[in-house]
Amino acid sequence: MKNPADSILLSPLKIGNLEIKNRMAVPAMVSCYCDSNGMPTEQYIAYLEARAKGGFGLIITEDYAVDPDGRGFWCAGLWDDAQIKPHSELPRRAHTAGAKIFAQIYHCGRQTSSNIIGKQPVSASALPCPAMGEIPHALTVPEIHKIVGEFGDTAHRAQLAGFDGVEIHGAHGYLIAQFMSDYSNKRTDCYGGSLNNRLRFPLEIIADIRKKCGTDYPVSFRISADECVTGGRHLEETKEICQKLEAAGVALLHVTAGTYEASWGIIPPLYIAKGWIVDFAEAVKKVVSIPVQTVGRINDPELAETILESGKADLISMGRASLADSELPNKYAQGRESEIRHCIGCNQGCVGELFQNKPIRCLVNPQLGFEASHEVKKTEYPKKVMVIGGGPAGLEAARGAAMIGHEVTLYEKNDALGGNFQIGSIPPAKGELASYISWLREELDRLGVIVKLKTEVTPDIVRTEKPATVVYAVGAKHSRPNIPGIDAKHVLEACDVLTGKVNTGHQVVICGAGMIGTETASYLGSINRQVTLVDLLPDVAMEEQATRRYFLLKKLDEYKVKEYMNSRIQKITDKGIVIEQYGSQLTLSCDSVVLALGMKADLKLYDQIKDLTQVKVVGDADIVIDALQASRAGFACGISL
Ligand code: SF4
Repeated sequence: MKNPADSILLSPLKIGNLEIKNRMAVPAMVSCYCDSNGMPTEQYIAYLEARAKGGFGLIITEDYAVDPDGRGFWCAGLWDDAQIKPHSELPRRAHTAGAKIFAQIYHCGRQTSSNIIGKQPVSASALPCPAMGEIPHALTVPEIHKIVGEFGDTAHRAQLAGFDGVEIHGAHGYLIAQFMSDYSNKRTDCYGGSLNNRLRFPLEIIADIRKKCGTDYPVSFRISADECVTGGRHLEETKEICQKLEAAGVALLHVTAGTYEASWGIIPPLYIAKGWIVDFAEAVKKVVSIPVQTVGRINDPELAETILESGKADLISMGRASLADSELPNKYAQGRESEIRHCIGCNQGCVGELFQNKPIRCLVNPQLGFEASHEVKKTEYPKKVMVIGGGPAGLEAARGAAMIGHEVTLYEKNDALGGNFQIGSIPPAKGELASYISWLREELDRLGVIVKLKTEVTPDIVRTEKPATVVYAVGAKHSRPNIPGIDAKHVLEACDVLTGKVNTGHQVVICGAGMIGTETASYLGSINRQVTLVDLLPDVAMEEQATRRYFLLKKLDEYKVKEYMNSRIQKITDKGIVIEQYGSQLTLSCDSVVLALGMKADLKLYDQIKDLTQVKVVGDADIVIDALQASRAGFACGISL
């Protein structure tokens, strides 16, 4: 940690005439915490208030739609005067906590669905967004003018509600970006063709906002430096655009990347290097004189500090980092950076839930989304709690129980914590997952939880220790369906392969192309094994989150992994595996067969101890779930004891 006096990250920044207290910003992230009419809920306000209290200097809200037809999710809205007063509570509370707050304003154009807005989406041209698929209506000139006015009106409502400024969302392939890019704008009138014509729409919006809010009201503009699609806009044109935006009165440029087709660029998963957009920000910063904000997996204040020191940006967005730990700035400022819980880039809770139009969650922070419930209260009746199992569910249960004041001991039969989640950090590019387990381990120490490794709990231990409650979180084990030959010696389990307990030989067939099977294939491919995936399903890794799946599939290609989908396993022989695909029988030769055919709850010990004391079953031991659900289930169990 730097001496605070020498820290640029902790130093103030001026955006126009507005000063923010430090260089850490929460960028816009749709939460789905507002109601279906764009009205704030207490959860929405409490969630952002927690980030303000945690020390972030600038909060940029999620997208405030300028028109209900401009929504891509159930996001916030300021399209109506009746929305001003309810939304004014948010800036009031953010200000009380010491933060400044901007409302991001947007229209999603073609990047929505008629299922959400109840009608045909609109765009610059009648070209469908390849990710969404619906052909939009090409806006007429009067319709464009109407939307320009809606942006100005929405910014004015934000000003009346008490927001310190607005961020115009001109990035990520939304309506403004659709006009700005000749990839999506094929108009032949004064809103299409030349760069000046394509910029007419955003420049009219900026002018309308300045007319309605005054020229002093800070206006930020978010822009994708590179749309990351073939034929999309690239950096050179972006630099020219940014100069024109500055000349039009924009006070801050928020440089990002991507469109829906390249959603990995918008919300880069753990396969992408941290701070990968910073060089784009630097290029923009060289051609403008207003502050430049950067973004892109910057989950650590030391990295943020380095970016600022290098002069590549003036303000750092720490979006998912703020979801993972709302207290990140305060911990950094107080020299407690070792206590920061880092975002691991899994995109499971924040993106995975959002893409289903559900409230966002966070795998490593099970309290995200529950800020309004004030759920952590000290117990009046401390008791002895035994947690069995050191995966995410058990660790979070122990953490939650200790936070509310119970005396907790956690037992893990292996010599390390983390369970199957830790094993999941072994495949290529997934090492960051392990940081969550490390954080939990240290947090349990801080909370005084006793951790006993290499200790397999027996009924006798439960009888001797006499815990008031046992949390049973032993997880799950590999399913072994009734396939002829499955008990042969060369039939291995994916977890044993990943942990190096067994040797696969050179040619490997993996039965099961879900996430575990596919990632095991990626791992084996990376160490030069010749791998074949077999599954009854039509495609590989179908349950994998989209932004991660894109990179996982690239790895399978790189390692030349063969795939036999829509294939039923008939039997395993000494020399390979026999499958049936589209009515034909095929034999695949291999040295070993690796099972990744799902997991099933391990309830053996539960049956032996369930009558000895109160036993609560959580995580995979209850029902096989993913780590996002397991961490939340464990924590909820811990704080309920
Ligand atoms: Fe980060 Fe994963 Fe949490 Fe999203 S769900 S904020 S990617 S740790």
